[in-house]
Amino acid sequence: MRGLRSSRAASRRPPTIVCYICGRQFGTKSISLHEPHCLKKWHLENDKLPKNLRRQEPKKPEVILRGDGSFDTAAMSEAAWQIHLEQLVPCENCGRTFLPDRLEVHQRGCRGDNRRIKVRR
Ligand SMILES: [Zn+2]
Ligand SMILES: [Zn+2]
Repeated sequence: MRGLRSSRAASRRPPTIVCYICGRQFGTKSISLHEPHCLKKWHLENDKLPKNLRRQEPKKPEVILRGDGSFDTAAMSEAAWQIHLEQLVPCENCGRTFLPDRLEVHQRGCRGDNRRIKVRR
């Protein structure tokens, strides 16, 4: 009676929710622990940015419930992802968007190839 266990495990994935700040996925329990940390980090990073790149504190998306009262994790993650995208900072050189900490890393290697991107009309 033990042989079927492994095939069942895959369908029992716990629901995940996207963090509206960093865009990473967390379990419904760990996200409530993660969010305060993530927001703190966000403020630290935001303060380091030049004034013209600083952003407004992201607003937490509302909880979306299904008809049966359970979390609609898919809809919530979609809303959170959109908020996360608005937090990204564009590279002055190439126009691609990054998280502030990634932007720093990226700009070290970015040669500003924005002229090669075809933006003509
Ligand atoms: Zn986060
Ligand atoms: Zn760049």
